[in-house]
Amino acid sequence: MEKMKVAIIGAGISGASIARALSRYENLEVHLIEKAPDVSWGVSKANTALIHGGYDDDPEKYPMRAKLCIRGNRLWHQWVKELEIPHVWNGALIVATKEEDFDELEKLLERGRKNNVPDMRIVDREELFRLEPKLTREAIGALWVPIVGQIDPIIAVIALIENAVVNGVKTHLETEVRGIKVENGEVKGVETNNSFIEADIIINAAGLYADEIARIVGIDYFEIHPRKGEYWIFDDDVPGPKRVLFPTPTPISKGIIVTTEIFGHLMIGPNAQDLLPKEKGNLATTREGLEQVWEGAKKLWPQLPPRSKVIRTFAGLRPEPTGGDFIIKAEEEVWGFINVAGIRSPGLTSAPAIAYEVAGIIERDLGIEMKEKSKWNPYRREITRFFMMTPEQVNEAVKKNPSYGKIVCHCNSVSEGDVLEAIERMKFIGVKTPSIDSVKFRTRATAGTCQGSFCRARIVQLLAREYGVEPWKITLKGRGSEIGIGDVKVFLRRDT
Ligand SMILES: Cc1cc2nc3c(=O)[nH]c(=O)nc-3n(C[C@H](O)[C@H](O)[C@H](O)COP(=O)(O)OP(=O)(O)OC[C@H]3O[C@@H](n4cnc5c(N)ncnc54)[C@H](O)[C@@H]3O)c2cc1C
Repeated sequence: MEKMKVAIIGAGISGASIARALSRYENLEVHLIEKAPDVSWGVSKANTALIHGGYDDDPEKYPMRAKLCIRGNRLWHQWVKELEIPHVWNGALIVATKEEDFDELEKLLERGRKNNVPDMRIVDREELFRLEPKLTREAIGALWVPIVGQIDPIIAVIALIENAVVNGVKTHLETEVRGIKVENGEVKGVETNNSFIEADIIINAAGLYADEIARIVGIDYFEIHPRKGEYWIFDDDVPGPKRVLFPTPTPISKGIIVTTEIFGHLMIGPNAQDLLPKEKGNLATTREGLEQVWEGAKKLWPQLPPRSKVIRTFAGLRPEPTGGDFIIKAEEEVWGFINVAGIRSPGLTSAPAIAYEVAGIIERDLGIEMKEKSKWNPYRREITRFFMMTPEQVNEAVKKNPSYGKIVCHCNSVSEGDVLEAIERMKFIGVKTPSIDSVKFRTRATAGTCQGSFCRARIVQLLAREYGVEPWKITLKGRGSEIGIGDVKVFLRRDT
Protein backbone atom coordinates (compact mmCIF):
# COMPACT_ATOMS: atom_id res chain seq x y z
CA MET A 1 0.00 0.00 0.00
CA GLU A 2 1.31 3.45 -0.90
CA LYS A 3 1.55 5.55 2.25
CA MET A 4 0.91 9.28 2.55
CA LYS A 5 3.93 10.98 4.07
CA VAL A 6 3.11 13.39 6.90
CA ALA A 7 5.66 15.86 8.30
CA ILE A 8 4.80 17.43 11.65
CA ILE A 9 6.88 20.52 12.46
CA GLY A 10 7.40 20.89 16.22
CA ALA A 11 7.73 18.36 19.05
CA GLY A 12 5.79 20.24 21.72
CA ILE A 13 2.54 19.02 23.23
CA SER A 14 0.62 19.79 19.99
CA GLY A 15 3.01 17.99 17.61
CA ALA A 16 3.49 15.08 20.02
CA SER A 17 -0.27 14.55 20.46
CA ILE A 18 -0.81 14.73 16.70
CA ALA A 19 2.04 12.26 16.10
CA ARG A 20 0.49 9.80 18.54
CA ALA A 21 -3.01 10.16 17.08
CA LEU A 22 -1.76 9.72 13.49
CA SER A 23 0.43 6.71 14.43
CA ARG A 24 -2.83 4.77 14.60
CA TYR A 25 -3.23 4.73 10.80
CA GLU A 26 -1.43 2.26 8.57
CA ASN A 27 -1.65 4.39 5.43
CA LEU A 28 0.29 7.30 7.00
CA GLU A 29 4.07 7.52 7.36
CA VAL A 30 4.60 10.10 10.09
CA HIS A 31 7.76 12.20 10.57
CA LEU A 32 8.10 14.45 13.62
CA ILE A 33 10.62 17.26 13.07
CA GLU A 34 12.10 19.33 15.89
CA LYS A 35 14.91 21.89 15.84
CA ALA A 36 15.88 21.42 19.51
CA PRO A 37 18.08 18.50 20.67
CA ASP A 38 15.21 17.01 22.69
CA VAL A 39 11.43 17.17 22.74
CA SER A 40 9.30 19.66 24.72
CA TRP A 41 11.91 22.40 24.90
CA GLY A 42 9.58 25.08 23.49
CA VAL A 43 6.46 26.57 25.08
CA SER A 44 5.45 23.16 26.44
CA LYS A 45 8.41 23.19 28.83
CA ALA A 46 7.44 26.19 30.97
CA ASN A 47 3.79 26.71 31.87
CA THR A 48 1.38 26.25 34.77
CA ALA A 49 0.73 22.60 33.78
CA LEU A 50 -3.00 22.74 34.48
CA ILE A 51 -5.60 20.65 32.77
CA HIS A 52 -8.15 23.43 32.72
CA GLY A 53 -11.85 22.99 33.25
CA GLY A 54 -13.02 24.69 30.04
CA TYR A 55 -15.33 27.23 31.71
CA ASP A 56 -13.60 30.50 30.81
CA ASP A 57 -13.36 30.43 27.00
CA ASP A 58 -16.25 32.28 25.41
CA PRO A 59 -17.62 30.03 22.62
CA GLU A 60 -18.79 33.09 20.61
CA LYS A 61 -15.36 34.75 20.64
CA TYR A 62 -13.03 31.72 20.76
CA PRO A 63 -14.97 28.73 19.41
CA MET A 64 -11.92 26.48 18.93
CA ARG A 65 -10.61 27.07 22.45
CA ALA A 66 -14.06 26.58 23.98
CA LYS A 67 -14.69 23.35 22.06
CA LEU A 68 -11.26 21.75 22.40
CA CYS A 69 -10.48 22.59 26.04
CA ILE A 70 -13.29 20.55 27.57
CA ARG A 71 -12.74 17.72 25.06
CA GLY A 72 -9.04 17.76 25.85
CA ASN A 73 -9.74 17.62 29.59
CA ARG A 74 -11.87 14.49 29.09
CA LEU A 75 -9.26 12.85 26.85
CA TRP A 76 -6.46 13.55 29.32
CA HIS A 77 -8.37 11.54 31.94
CA GLN A 78 -7.85 8.54 29.61
CA TRP A 79 -4.41 9.42 28.16
CA VAL A 80 -2.67 9.86 31.55
CA LYS A 81 -3.65 6.29 32.38
CA GLU A 82 -2.61 4.76 29.05
CA LEU A 83 0.73 6.59 29.07
CA GLU A 84 1.39 6.60 32.84
CA ILE A 85 1.88 10.38 32.97
CA PRO A 86 2.27 11.86 36.48
CA HIS A 87 -0.94 13.74 37.28
CA VAL A 88 -3.37 14.79 39.97
CA TRP A 89 -7.09 15.59 39.67
CA ASN A 90 -7.47 17.99 42.59
CA GLY A 91 -9.99 20.54 41.26
CA ALA A 92 -9.85 24.34 41.14
CA LEU A 93 -11.39 27.11 43.23
CA ILE A 94 -11.93 30.50 41.65
CA VAL A 95 -12.01 32.60 44.76
CA ALA A 96 -14.21 35.63 45.47
CA THR A 97 -13.00 38.20 47.98
CA LYS A 98 -15.62 40.90 47.21
CA GLU A 99 -19.38 40.68 46.69
CA GLU A 100 -18.98 41.97 43.07
CA ASP A 101 -16.79 38.94 42.27
CA PHE A 102 -19.88 36.73 42.39
CA ASP A 103 -21.22 38.44 39.22
CA GLU A 104 -18.10 37.27 37.37
CA LEU A 105 -18.30 33.79 38.93
CA GLU A 106 -21.95 33.49 37.82
CA LYS A 107 -20.84 34.41 34.28
CA LEU A 108 -18.15 31.71 34.37
CA LEU A 109 -20.64 29.17 35.69
CA GLU A 110 -23.04 30.03 32.86
CA ARG A 111 -20.25 29.81 30.26
CA GLY A 112 -19.03 26.53 31.71
CA ARG A 113 -22.54 25.10 31.34
CA LYS A 114 -22.60 26.24 27.68
CA ASN A 115 -19.25 24.49 27.15
CA ASN A 116 -20.58 21.29 28.82
CA VAL A 117 -18.31 21.44 31.86
CA PRO A 118 -19.72 19.01 34.44
CA ASP A 119 -20.18 19.38 38.22
CA MET A 120 -19.33 23.09 38.61
CA ARG A 121 -20.98 25.03 41.38
CA ILE A 122 -20.64 28.11 43.56
CA VAL A 123 -19.67 27.25 47.13
CA ASP A 124 -20.20 29.41 50.22
CA ARG A 125 -17.53 30.48 52.70
CA GLU A 126 -18.04 27.47 54.97
CA GLU A 127 -17.70 24.89 52.22
CA LEU A 128 -14.81 26.83 50.69
CA PHE A 129 -12.78 26.56 53.90
CA ARG A 130 -13.59 22.85 54.12
CA LEU A 131 -12.14 22.45 50.61
CA GLU A 132 -9.14 24.72 51.29
CA PRO A 133 -8.61 25.41 55.02
CA LYS A 134 -5.54 27.69 54.73
CA LEU A 135 -6.92 30.12 52.19
CA THR A 136 -6.91 33.88 52.88
CA ARG A 137 -9.50 34.78 55.55
CA GLU A 138 -10.77 37.47 53.15
CA ALA A 139 -12.31 34.81 50.89
CA ILE A 140 -16.11 34.81 50.91
CA GLY A 141 -16.96 32.06 48.41
CA ALA A 142 -15.73 30.45 45.19
CA LEU A 143 -16.57 28.67 42.00
CA TRP A 144 -15.63 25.00 42.47
CA VAL A 145 -14.51 23.11 39.35
CA PRO A 146 -13.68 19.53 40.34
CA ILE A 147 -12.49 18.33 36.89
CA VAL A 148 -9.39 20.57 36.88
CA GLY A 149 -6.08 18.74 37.28
CA GLN A 150 -2.34 19.01 36.83
CA ILE A 151 0.17 16.95 34.84
CA ASP A 152 3.89 17.00 34.19
CA PRO A 153 3.87 18.69 30.77
CA ILE A 154 7.40 17.67 29.76
CA ILE A 155 6.88 14.03 30.72
CA ALA A 156 3.57 14.21 28.85
CA VAL A 157 5.36 15.15 25.61
CA ILE A 158 8.06 12.52 26.20
CA ALA A 159 5.42 9.86 26.90
CA LEU A 160 3.42 10.72 23.78
CA ILE A 161 6.53 10.56 21.62
CA GLU A 162 7.83 7.32 23.14
CA ASN A 163 4.43 5.82 22.39
CA ALA A 164 4.34 7.32 18.88
CA VAL A 165 7.80 5.88 18.13
CA VAL A 166 6.69 2.43 19.33
CA ASN A 167 3.86 2.78 16.81
CA GLY A 168 6.17 3.66 13.91
CA VAL A 169 6.61 7.47 13.98
CA LYS A 170 10.09 8.64 12.91
CA THR A 171 11.68 11.51 14.84
CA HIS A 172 14.16 14.04 13.43
CA LEU A 173 15.70 16.04 16.28
CA GLU A 174 18.13 18.95 15.80
CA THR A 175 16.42 19.36 12.45
CA GLU A 176 15.30 22.91 11.70
CA VAL A 177 12.76 23.50 8.95
CA ARG A 178 14.08 26.32 6.77
CA GLY A 179 12.05 25.91 3.60
CA ILE A 180 8.99 24.16 2.20
CA LYS A 181 8.77 22.83 -1.34
CA VAL A 182 5.45 23.54 -3.04
CA GLU A 183 4.69 22.45 -6.63
CA ASN A 184 1.46 23.21 -8.50
CA GLY A 185 -0.13 24.40 -5.25
CA GLU A 186 0.68 21.19 -3.35
CA VAL A 187 3.27 20.60 -0.65
CA LYS A 188 6.10 18.24 -1.57
CA GLY A 189 8.37 18.29 1.48
CA VAL A 190 10.43 20.29 3.95
CA GLU A 191 13.95 21.60 3.54
CA THR A 192 15.91 21.44 6.77
CA ASN A 193 19.39 22.30 8.02
CA ASN A 194 20.48 18.72 7.30
CA SER A 195 18.15 17.05 4.80
CA PHE A 196 15.09 17.20 2.56
CA ILE A 197 12.13 15.29 4.00
CA GLU A 198 9.44 14.39 1.48
CA ALA A 199 5.89 15.05 2.59
CA ASP A 200 2.39 14.99 1.09
CA ILE A 201 0.97 16.68 4.19
CA ILE A 202 2.74 19.22 6.41
CA ILE A 203 1.40 20.06 9.85
CA ASN A 204 2.69 23.33 11.23
CA ALA A 205 2.81 22.92 15.04
CA ALA A 206 5.82 25.20 15.54
CA GLY A 207 4.53 27.05 18.62
CA LEU A 208 5.87 30.62 18.82
CA TYR A 209 7.30 30.26 15.29
CA ALA A 210 4.17 28.94 13.54
CA ASP A 211 3.63 32.35 11.86
CA GLU A 212 7.15 32.23 10.38
CA ILE A 213 6.60 28.68 9.04
CA ALA A 214 3.23 29.71 7.53
CA ARG A 215 4.87 32.71 5.83
CA ILE A 216 7.25 30.35 3.99
CA VAL A 217 4.26 29.09 1.97
CA GLY A 218 2.80 32.59 1.58
CA ILE A 219 0.22 32.45 4.38
CA ASP A 220 0.43 35.67 6.33
CA TYR A 221 -3.02 36.42 7.74
CA PHE A 222 -1.84 35.94 11.32
CA GLU A 223 1.07 36.89 13.53
CA ILE A 224 2.22 35.44 16.81
CA HIS A 225 3.51 37.55 19.65
CA PRO A 226 4.86 36.20 22.94
CA ARG A 227 3.03 36.90 26.21
CA LYS A 228 5.38 36.28 29.09
CA GLY A 229 4.39 34.59 32.35
CA GLU A 230 6.72 34.36 35.36
CA TYR A 231 6.77 31.96 38.31
CA TRP A 232 8.30 31.22 41.70
CA ILE A 233 8.83 27.65 42.95
CA PHE A 234 9.48 26.82 46.61
CA ASP A 235 11.26 24.03 48.44
CA ASP A 236 9.25 20.88 49.08
CA ASP A 237 8.92 21.46 52.86
CA VAL A 238 6.82 24.60 52.21
CA PRO A 239 3.12 23.77 52.57
CA GLY A 240 0.91 24.62 49.60
CA PRO A 241 -2.82 24.37 48.89
CA LYS A 242 -4.70 21.14 48.16
CA ARG A 243 -6.59 22.69 45.23
CA VAL A 244 -5.57 24.96 42.38
CA LEU A 245 -6.42 28.49 43.56
CA PHE A 246 -7.38 31.23 41.10
CA PRO A 247 -8.47 34.76 41.89
CA THR A 248 -11.60 35.99 40.13
CA PRO A 249 -10.28 36.68 36.58
CA THR A 250 -9.81 39.96 34.72
CA PRO A 251 -10.46 40.44 30.96
CA ILE A 252 -6.81 39.74 30.00
CA SER A 253 -5.68 37.14 32.48
CA LYS A 254 -6.86 34.23 34.56
CA GLY A 255 -4.82 35.85 37.33
CA ILE A 256 -1.98 34.73 39.56
CA ILE A 257 -2.49 31.12 40.59
CA VAL A 258 -1.37 29.42 43.78
CA THR A 259 -0.91 25.67 43.53
CA THR A 260 1.09 22.70 44.70
CA GLU A 261 2.64 21.23 41.55
CA ILE A 262 2.48 17.48 41.07
CA PHE A 263 5.80 16.75 42.78
CA GLY A 264 4.77 18.65 45.92
CA HIS A 265 6.30 22.11 45.47
CA LEU A 266 4.33 25.29 46.13
CA MET A 267 4.26 27.24 42.83
CA ILE A 268 2.92 30.76 42.21
CA GLY A 269 2.39 32.55 38.90
CA PRO A 270 2.03 33.52 36.13
CA ASN A 271 1.69 37.21 35.31
CA ALA A 272 0.97 38.31 31.72
CA GLN A 273 3.31 40.69 29.89
CA ASP A 274 2.95 41.23 26.14
CA LEU A 275 6.23 41.28 24.18
CA LEU A 276 7.01 42.21 20.60
CA PRO A 277 6.82 39.43 17.96
CA LYS A 278 10.62 39.60 17.59
CA GLU A 279 11.13 38.75 21.29
CA LYS A 280 10.37 35.04 20.95
CA GLY A 281 13.58 34.09 22.74
CA ASN A 282 13.14 36.43 25.70
CA LEU A 283 12.73 34.03 28.62
CA ALA A 284 14.36 36.28 31.22
CA THR A 285 12.55 36.79 34.49
CA THR A 286 12.18 40.40 35.63
CA ARG A 287 12.20 41.94 39.08
CA GLU A 288 8.91 43.80 38.43
CA GLY A 289 7.21 40.72 37.00
CA LEU A 290 8.23 38.49 39.88
CA GLU A 291 7.13 41.11 42.44
CA GLN A 292 3.78 41.35 40.68
CA VAL A 293 3.40 37.56 41.00
CA TRP A 294 4.39 37.64 44.68
CA GLU A 295 1.88 40.38 45.51
CA GLY A 296 -0.87 38.63 43.51
CA ALA A 297 -0.26 35.27 45.21
CA LYS A 298 -0.25 36.82 48.70
CA LYS A 299 -3.86 37.90 48.21
CA LEU A 300 -4.91 34.22 48.08
CA TRP A 301 -2.18 32.65 50.20
CA PRO A 302 -0.96 35.20 52.77
CA GLN A 303 1.43 32.75 54.45
CA LEU A 304 4.03 32.85 51.64
CA PRO A 305 7.36 31.65 53.12
CA PRO A 306 10.55 33.71 53.38
CA ARG A 307 12.41 34.12 50.08
CA SER A 308 15.19 31.80 51.29
CA LYS A 309 12.71 29.01 50.59
CA VAL A 310 12.57 29.80 46.87
CA ILE A 311 14.42 27.19 44.78
CA ARG A 312 13.79 28.60 41.33
CA THR A 313 12.13 31.31 39.29
CA PHE A 314 11.34 30.87 35.61
CA ALA A 315 9.37 32.35 32.71
CA GLY A 316 7.34 30.93 29.82
CA LEU A 317 6.04 32.56 26.63
CA ARG A 318 2.47 32.07 25.46
CA PRO A 319 2.15 32.08 21.63
CA GLU A 320 -0.61 34.68 21.26
CA PRO A 321 -2.14 34.70 17.75
CA THR A 322 -3.92 37.50 15.94
CA GLY A 323 -7.58 37.14 16.91
CA GLY A 324 -6.85 35.14 20.05
CA ASP A 325 -8.31 31.79 18.97
CA PHE A 326 -6.41 28.62 18.00
CA ILE A 327 -5.84 28.46 14.22
CA ILE A 328 -6.37 24.82 13.22
CA LYS A 329 -7.19 24.36 9.55
CA ALA A 330 -6.12 23.04 6.17
CA GLU A 331 -5.10 26.09 4.15
CA GLU A 332 -6.89 26.15 0.79
CA GLU A 333 -4.12 28.01 -1.09
CA VAL A 334 -1.57 25.25 -0.48
CA TRP A 335 -2.94 21.73 -0.64
CA GLY A 336 -1.63 19.57 2.22
CA PHE A 337 -0.58 22.44 4.50
CA ILE A 338 -2.35 22.36 7.88
CA ASN A 339 -1.85 25.09 10.47
CA VAL A 340 -1.93 24.24 14.16
CA ALA A 341 -0.97 27.74 15.20
CA GLY A 342 -1.54 30.18 18.04
CA ILE A 343 -1.77 27.37 20.55
CA ARG A 344 -1.73 29.56 23.63
CA SER A 345 -3.42 28.60 26.89
CA PRO A 346 -5.34 26.25 27.22
CA GLY A 347 -3.17 24.47 24.62
CA LEU A 348 -1.78 21.88 26.99
CA THR A 349 -5.30 20.91 28.04
CA SER A 350 -6.61 20.93 24.48
CA ALA A 351 -3.73 18.97 22.90
CA PRO A 352 -5.41 15.53 22.69
CA ALA A 353 -8.51 17.15 21.18
CA ILE A 354 -6.34 19.17 18.77
CA ALA A 355 -4.80 15.87 17.64
CA TYR A 356 -8.20 14.35 16.80
CA GLU A 357 -9.27 17.61 15.15
CA VAL A 358 -6.23 17.35 12.84
CA ALA A 359 -6.97 13.68 12.05
CA GLY A 360 -10.52 14.82 11.15
CA ILE A 361 -9.17 17.58 8.89
CA ILE A 362 -6.97 15.09 7.01
CA GLU A 363 -9.92 12.82 6.44
CA ARG A 364 -12.66 15.41 5.83
CA ASP A 365 -10.90 18.37 4.19
CA LEU A 366 -8.07 16.59 2.38
CA GLY A 367 -10.30 13.62 1.52
CA ILE A 368 -7.85 10.96 2.65
CA GLU A 369 -9.37 7.72 3.80
CA MET A 370 -7.66 6.70 7.04
CA LYS A 371 -7.10 2.99 7.64
CA GLU A 372 -6.61 1.97 11.26
CA LYS A 373 -3.82 -0.46 12.10
CA SER A 374 -5.02 -3.86 13.26
CA LYS A 375 -2.38 -3.67 15.99
CA TRP A 376 -1.81 -0.29 17.61
CA ASN A 377 -0.29 -0.05 21.05
CA PRO A 378 -1.91 2.66 23.24
CA TYR A 379 0.34 1.99 26.24
CA ARG A 380 3.64 3.32 27.54
CA ARG A 381 5.29 2.54 30.84
CA GLU A 382 6.49 5.38 33.11
CA ILE A 383 10.21 5.61 33.90
CA THR A 384 11.26 3.79 37.08
CA ARG A 385 11.39 6.29 39.93
CA PHE A 386 13.40 5.28 42.97
CA PHE A 387 11.69 7.88 45.16
CA MET A 388 8.30 6.31 44.53
CA MET A 389 9.36 2.72 45.36
CA THR A 390 8.45 0.90 48.56
CA PRO A 391 11.40 -0.63 50.48
CA GLU A 392 10.41 -4.06 49.07
CA GLN A 393 10.44 -2.69 45.52
CA VAL A 394 13.85 -1.10 46.15
CA ASN A 395 15.23 -4.48 47.31
CA GLU A 396 13.79 -6.18 44.27
CA ALA A 397 15.16 -3.52 41.88
CA VAL A 398 18.65 -3.57 43.46
CA LYS A 399 18.79 -7.37 43.23
CA LYS A 400 18.07 -7.17 39.49
CA ASN A 401 20.24 -4.11 38.86
CA PRO A 402 22.66 -2.79 41.53
CA SER A 403 22.65 0.70 39.99
CA TYR A 404 19.26 1.27 41.69
CA GLY A 405 21.18 1.07 44.97
CA LYS A 406 23.35 4.12 44.16
CA ILE A 407 21.72 7.48 44.83
CA VAL A 408 22.80 10.22 42.41
CA CYS A 409 20.47 13.10 43.39
CA HIS A 410 19.96 13.21 47.15
CA CYS A 411 17.45 16.09 47.09
CA ASN A 412 14.95 14.17 44.96
CA SER A 413 16.17 10.61 45.68
CA VAL A 414 17.09 9.76 42.09
CA SER A 415 19.18 6.62 41.65
CA GLU A 416 21.81 5.80 39.05
CA GLY A 417 19.34 3.23 37.71
CA ASP A 418 16.78 6.00 37.08
CA VAL A 419 19.41 8.07 35.21
CA LEU A 420 20.56 5.12 33.07
CA GLU A 421 16.97 4.33 32.13
CA ALA A 422 16.45 8.00 31.21
CA ILE A 423 19.51 7.89 28.93
CA GLU A 424 18.24 4.71 27.25
CA ARG A 425 14.91 6.40 26.61
CA MET A 426 16.59 9.54 25.26
CA LYS A 427 18.37 7.38 22.70
CA PHE A 428 15.14 5.54 21.88
CA ILE A 429 13.45 8.72 20.68
CA GLY A 430 16.55 9.93 18.84
CA VAL A 431 18.31 12.37 21.21
CA LYS A 432 21.80 12.73 19.71
CA THR A 433 23.36 15.48 21.82
CA PRO A 434 23.55 14.38 25.46
CA SER A 435 22.47 17.09 27.89
CA ILE A 436 21.89 17.40 31.62
CA ASP A 437 18.46 18.96 31.04
CA SER A 438 17.29 15.83 29.19
CA VAL A 439 18.10 13.76 32.28
CA LYS A 440 16.62 16.39 34.60
CA PHE A 441 13.26 16.49 32.82
CA ARG A 442 12.99 12.68 32.83
CA THR A 443 14.18 11.95 36.38
CA ARG A 444 14.01 15.23 38.41
CA ALA A 445 17.73 14.93 39.22
CA THR A 446 19.15 18.50 39.61
CA ALA A 447 15.63 19.91 40.18
CA GLY A 448 15.68 19.75 43.98
CA THR A 449 16.84 22.05 46.76
CA CYS A 450 20.50 22.20 45.70
CA GLN A 451 19.58 22.58 41.99
CA GLY A 452 22.28 20.13 40.89
CA SER A 453 25.29 21.39 42.86
CA PHE A 454 25.85 17.88 44.19
CA CYS A 455 24.74 15.52 41.39
CA ARG A 456 25.55 17.35 38.17
CA ALA A 457 29.10 15.96 37.98
CA ARG A 458 27.92 12.35 38.36
CA ILE A 459 25.26 12.83 35.69
CA VAL A 460 27.93 14.19 33.34
CA GLN A 461 30.03 11.07 33.92
CA LEU A 462 27.09 8.77 33.21
CA LEU A 463 26.09 10.67 30.07
CA ALA A 464 29.69 10.67 28.83
CA ARG A 465 30.03 6.93 29.38
CA GLU A 466 26.70 5.98 27.82
CA TYR A 467 27.08 8.29 24.80
CA GLY A 468 30.79 7.46 24.39
CA VAL A 469 31.94 11.12 24.41
CA GLU A 470 34.38 13.12 26.50
CA PRO A 471 32.81 14.56 29.69
CA TRP A 472 33.47 18.17 28.69
CA LYS A 473 31.39 17.67 25.54
CA ILE A 474 28.26 17.02 27.62
CA THR A 475 25.96 20.01 27.37
CA LEU A 476 23.60 21.67 29.79
CA LYS A 477 20.92 22.20 27.14
CA GLY A 478 22.24 21.46 23.66
CA ARG A 479 25.09 22.66 21.47
CA GLY A 480 26.73 25.85 22.70
CA SER A 481 26.16 25.01 26.37
CA GLU A 482 28.99 22.47 26.75
CA ILE A 483 29.95 22.19 30.41
CA GLY A 484 33.71 22.31 29.75
CA ILE A 485 36.32 23.46 27.28
CA GLY A 486 38.55 20.36 27.29
CA ASP A 487 40.70 18.18 29.48
CA VAL A 488 41.95 20.97 31.77
CA LYS A 489 44.03 18.62 33.96
CA VAL A 490 45.95 17.06 31.06
CA PHE A 491 49.24 18.75 32.07
CA LEU A 492 49.06 17.36 35.62
CA ARG A 493 48.90 13.84 34.22
CA ARG A 494 51.98 14.13 31.95
CA ASP A 495 54.76 11.59 32.68
CA THR A 496 57.56 14.19 32.63
C1 LIG B 1 3.09 31.04 31.11
C2 LIG B 1 2.23 29.97 30.46
C3 LIG B 1 1.27 29.28 31.19
C4 LIG B 1 0.47 28.32 30.57
N1 LIG B 1 -0.36 27.56 31.32
C5 LIG B 1 -1.11 26.61 30.74
C6 LIG B 1 -1.93 25.76 31.52
O1 LIG B 1 -1.90 25.78 32.75
N2 LIG B 1 -2.75 24.89 30.88
C7 LIG B 1 -2.80 24.83 29.53
O2 LIG B 1 -3.62 24.07 29.01
N3 LIG B 1 -1.98 25.56 28.75
C8 LIG B 1 -1.12 26.43 29.33
N4 LIG B 1 -0.26 27.18 28.59
C9 LIG B 1 -0.26 26.99 27.14
C10 LIG B 1 0.55 25.78 26.71
O3 LIG B 1 1.79 25.73 27.38
C11 LIG B 1 0.78 25.87 25.19
O4 LIG B 1 -0.47 26.03 24.58
C12 LIG B 1 1.43 24.63 24.62
O5 LIG B 1 2.55 24.25 25.37
C13 LIG B 1 1.84 24.90 23.16
O6 LIG B 1 2.43 23.73 22.68
P1 LIG B 1 2.89 23.64 21.17
O7 LIG B 1 3.30 22.22 20.95
O8 LIG B 1 1.87 24.20 20.27
O9 LIG B 1 4.16 24.61 21.08
P2 LIG B 1 5.67 24.31 21.57
O10 LIG B 1 5.70 23.55 22.82
O11 LIG B 1 6.40 25.60 21.53
O12 LIG B 1 6.23 23.36 20.43
C14 LIG B 1 6.62 23.86 19.18
C15 LIG B 1 7.95 23.25 18.82
O13 LIG B 1 8.28 23.62 17.48
C16 LIG B 1 9.68 23.72 17.41
N5 LIG B 1 10.02 24.53 16.22
C17 LIG B 1 9.79 25.85 16.04
N6 LIG B 1 10.26 26.23 14.83
C18 LIG B 1 10.78 25.12 14.24
C19 LIG B 1 11.42 24.88 12.99
N7 LIG B 1 11.63 25.86 12.09
N8 LIG B 1 11.85 23.63 12.71
C20 LIG B 1 11.67 22.62 13.61
N9 LIG B 1 11.08 22.80 14.82
C21 LIG B 1 10.63 24.04 15.13
C22 LIG B 1 10.06 24.40 18.73
O14 LIG B 1 11.42 24.17 19.05
C23 LIG B 1 9.10 23.73 19.70
O15 LIG B 1 9.69 22.62 20.37
C24 LIG B 1 0.60 28.09 29.18
C25 LIG B 1 1.59 28.75 28.46
C26 LIG B 1 2.44 29.63 29.11
C27 LIG B 1 3.58 30.23 28.36
